[in-house]
Amino acid sequence: MGVVKDLKNLVKGLGITGKHLGRHAITIQYPEERWTMPERSRGIVVLLSDKNTGELNCTSCELCMKACPSGAIKIEYHRDENKKKVLDLFDVDNGLCCFCGLCEEACNFSAIKMATKYEFSVWNKDGLIWDKDRLQEVGRDVPYVDTRRKKKATPKPAESDTSAAESEPKPESSEPSDENKQPKENQGEQPPEGGGS
Ligand code: SF4
Ligand code: SF4
Repeated sequence: MGVVKDLKNLVKGLGITGKHLGRHAITIQYPEERWTMPERSRGIVVLLSDKNTGELNCTSCELCMKACPSGAIKIEYHRDENKKKVLDLFDVDNGLCCFCGLCEEACNFSAIKMATKYEFSVWNKDGLIWDKDRLQEVGRDVPYVDTRRKKKATPKPAESDTSAAESEPKPESSEPSDENKQPKENQGEQPPEGGGS
């Protein structure tokens, strides 16, 4: 039985080999040819900028730094006169990074992403530490979905507080009217019943 099984697997393997015999080789002739990485592949870490203002999306919340399992991210900030955080330093040590993508998952502000880029080898490992300017520069042409837009759209209701206030009463006023309608309808239905009895 064992021999039959082995022969069966051998034929199966030869069949797969035969299928690829006439096909073009998958090998890429690097560096003449370069591989386009799939959209969700994890290449180098970059910082994303606002598409309109060009400023970094980062809010210095440090969530990515805390999520990083290898301590590759270093963030420093100060608070301005309005107590708003101002990013002073954002370093990523690509020598420590294990390309896990946890920093991207932790970020709620579309500020950091694993870009589909590679070829950043250096002779000196100190060159693997990228500051925020380089992270921003490399990330400028990286496409991303700005989820902050949705969050910005929700705060806007500040203006629509009045409109919300206007819109709120409507359902309230409409509910009672429905309630009023129902009894009326019921009343309208009852008489015929009563009339019938
Ligand atoms: S990149 Fe995102 S998670 Fe990291 S500090 Fe900036 S806003 Fe926070
Ligand atoms: S990909 Fe992983 S290891 Fe690299 S900086 Fe992000 S969280 Fe840290």
